[in-house]
Amino acid sequence: MPDAEILAVGSELLGTQRLDTNSLYLTGKLNVLGVEVVQKCVVGDDRARLANEIAAALKRTEIVILSGGLGPTEDDVTRDAVAAALGRTQYQNADALAAIEERFKRLNRKMAEINKRQAMVIEGAEVLPNPRGTAPGQWIRTEDGRTVMLLPGPPTELKGMFEDQVQPRLEAMLPKQCIETVFYRIAGMGESDVDALIAPVYSKYMNPVTTILAGAGDIQLHFRARCSTVDEAKGLLAEVCPQIEKLLGDRIYSNDGASLEETVGKMLCAKNRTVAVAESATGGALGARMTAVPGSSACFKGGFITYTNEMKEKLLGVSSEVLAEYTEVSEKVALEMAKGVRERTGAYYGVAITGEAGPESGSGQPVGTFYVGVADETGFAEAKRYQFPGDRARLRQLGTQWALDLLRRRIVAG
Ligand code: ATP
Repeated sequence: MPDAEILAVGSELLGTQRLDTNSLYLTGKLNVLGVEVVQKCVVGDDRARLANEIAAALKRTEIVILSGGLGPTEDDVTRDAVAAALGRTQYQNADALAAIEERFKRLNRKMAEINKRQAMVIEGAEVLPNPRGTAPGQWIRTEDGRTVMLLPGPPTELKGMFEDQVQPRLEAMLPKQCIETVFYRIAGMGESDVDALIAPVYSKYMNPVTTILAGAGDIQLHFRARCSTVDEAKGLLAEVCPQIEKLLGDRIYSNDGASLEETVGKMLCAKNRTVAVAESATGGALGARMTAVPGSSACFKGGFITYTNEMKEKLLGVSSEVLAEYTEVSEKVALEMAKGVRERTGAYYGVAITGEAGPESGSGQPVGTFYVGVADETGFAEAKRYQFPGDRARLRQLGTQWALDLLRRRIVAG
């Protein structure tokens, strides 16, 4: 299976305002066809620099995809750079020119002379029509069996051209592949801990390919098997995945892509139980996450944002002695908050978060100290302490993540 390399062309993509999103789209599409993107780069509108990059890419990779730089102006250099890298000439393609002229006519606009440049085609290239814009794309096979394609920069044009023109050509060119994927989502572990635990298993296999994606307190694991039949691909996954599941155990919270709040919501619904939240440092972020899930009204009763100690006492019944003795960032207060919100709302579970999100500490506890608590109708209550790294936004996200995970574990337990 050939590999691919993507070159996104455009000086604007080197600035601070525009991101190269085309390569993300292309990578997703190529992966489905079984092609790995092994390298990508952004190159400014500079003929010589781009020609060098293309020549280098062609030495190492079978499929080279360029996006952008097909416009009519002097700074649209992709056609010239590809021609230079391949040592080929260009000519004005009559059909491409007719299509551009037709488009201007249809839009009732006068075509500028410079637009004719967009009909310049590299010797031996197939023209890829672009009904969504002026610049046609080009598909080139080289003497040594490599494929180069020039696609327009505007994302809607690129996507349309990929689906209509490129995908069928790639499918005809590539060996047939079946891809099967297994996803896991994991809470309560850092990326390096997950990797250290499972690397001894996954590193033995080239197929399936393992990808670890890290978010704040949330790791995604993807195993992608590629074979000529579905059964073969499923067989490879059936060999690796049970080993991974055994190692990670109940730290895996979903294998269908569901987020932690979706998973917890489903678990609550399945047990016909309700939850209410009491939040200090996270200021409602836990409630916001839980209620972002459609249908959450079936299990989410509500919550209290008790930012000040006065509110913790008044609304949740946290005792002033406990607050004075242990401070608001303490295990005891997290426990009282969880019990208090449960009792006051009549929910089956009460979940609480209190912590120091920084940048300054108000309680005297180090910034990043969080306590999350859970209490339930059986009288069970527990609170855990975490010391998180990061800025305020990350700390607040981690606080909600650990609180949701504590609740998830409690639901599993009973
Ligand atoms: P045009 O004929 O419209 O000039 P083009 O092929 O020359 O098309 P560019 O001029 O390079 O394309 O880019 C046009 C616009 O498309 C850019 O302003 C940018 O908004 C968007 N664009 C270009 N490249 C990318 C990319 N890699 N990812 C996302 N957007 C892009």
